[in-house]
Amino acid sequence: MSEPLPASERTDRAGLSALADPAEGDALAGRADLAARAARLDAADELGTLRERFALPEGIVYLDGNSLGALPVGVARRLAEVVTQEWGTSLIRSWSEGTWWTAPERIGDKLAPLIGAAAGQTVVGDSTSVNLFKALVGAARLAGPGRTRMLVDAATFPTDGYIAESAARLTGLTVTPVDPGEAAAAMGPDTAVVLLNHADYRTGRLHDLPGLTRAAHAAGAIAVWDLCHSAGALPVGLDAHAVDLAVGCTYKYLNGGPGAPAYLYVAERHQQAFDSPLPGWNGHADPFAMTPHYTPAAGATRGRVGTPDILSMLALESALDAWDGVSIEAVRAKSLALTDFFLECVAAYVPAGAVEPVTPADHAHRASQVSLRTDNAREVMAELISRGVVGDFRAPDVLRFGFTPLYVGFADAERAARTLGHIFG
Ligand SMILES: *Cc1c(COP(=O)(O)O)cnc(C)c1O
Repeated sequence: MSEPLPASERTDRAGLSALADPAEGDALAGRADLAARAARLDAADELGTLRERFALPEGIVYLDGNSLGALPVGVARRLAEVVTQEWGTSLIRSWSEGTWWTAPERIGDKLAPLIGAAAGQTVVGDSTSVNLFKALVGAARLAGPGRTRMLVDAATFPTDGYIAESAARLTGLTVTPVDPGEAAAAMGPDTAVVLLNHADYRTGRLHDLPGLTRAAHAAGAIAVWDLCHSAGALPVGLDAHAVDLAVGCTYKYLNGGPGAPAYLYVAERHQQAFDSPLPGWNGHADPFAMTPHYTPAAGATRGRVGTPDILSMLALESALDAWDGVSIEAVRAKSLALTDFFLECVAAYVPAGAVEPVTPADHAHRASQVSLRTDNAREVMAELISRGVVGDFRAPDVLRFGFTPLYVGFADAERAARTLGHIFG
């Protein structure tokens, strides 16, 4: 399975001829071996056939599923049916007689196993930003009076920080930015709410959700987790770790499509007291009674706001079929194997010192991406994309490669690293 090595690789170390340098000869053998190993790993991969569930273009290596997941095969047909039949023909009846009205709870329950949530706690709708607003104001109200601080992941994806600032202002709290590694020590009797990202979007570092949730509870605080970069990539265990509230998007590892609705998880024990700052009529106990007074619905439904985005939502419902029979533990095992292998290939193919991994090497702290710091990262990524390896760039100097085990294989990882090596060669 090994491919001939291009001239640029044979002369990439100080211009020495590969054949004249025994060490370089070993390196060449090692590189050929990587391609062969990738083929063997793919052949033995129990998740390997899941790629058939996606309509990926030929010839590219797609390592950006942590920004926009690939298109699952059934979605186009389902969406056409929703548009022409459910909307075009059934019209208004699709709300009352069809599947539309109950979609937010139904689809919430469909994705709940992937985040370790029992049914009845997850509702789909709105964006992550909007759900975060509901969760943070709701959390501050659950925490009650007497506590003054909201601790927020200092390296958070920006929208979370912006929303937290406003939610804190509205509820009389003060935001304190914390490094997640030091968050537990920062929690105390004045802490009302702790907002953390499960995985850091830039570095790919995975934070200790069980331990930090325990620490928040020990301090008497409410733990809110953003799962955007972990859900669909690794086990989250919301119920098992007694998380209070969580949000996440569905267009990354869950492949729901561009702008697919996000989700809000409210642990059952908090639902009765959860007081949403956006009490729209869809979250009302009896929406069609059209009463002037708001009475929240029971359960996760009170997390709803207004009329859901049915087209995106039903596309997501269909997209989640790609997970049928898939164990998230198996996904995690493959994700770690893929990122280990990619790092090994990068070390073999890319000249020493050209890139520096910023994603932790230890599995306990690695999510499902590899971030490499390099000079001219923007240009390097543009060049990679032009050569068919699609990752993304995060300012100021990070190359980001997302590994989505449902449709990325070991040969993809090898080709991506080899292409990166050529660029520096
Ligand atoms: C992707 C992402 C978001 C996206 O928020 P939207 O409201 O969907 O635009 C929010 N938070 C984190 C941590 C993310 O990674």
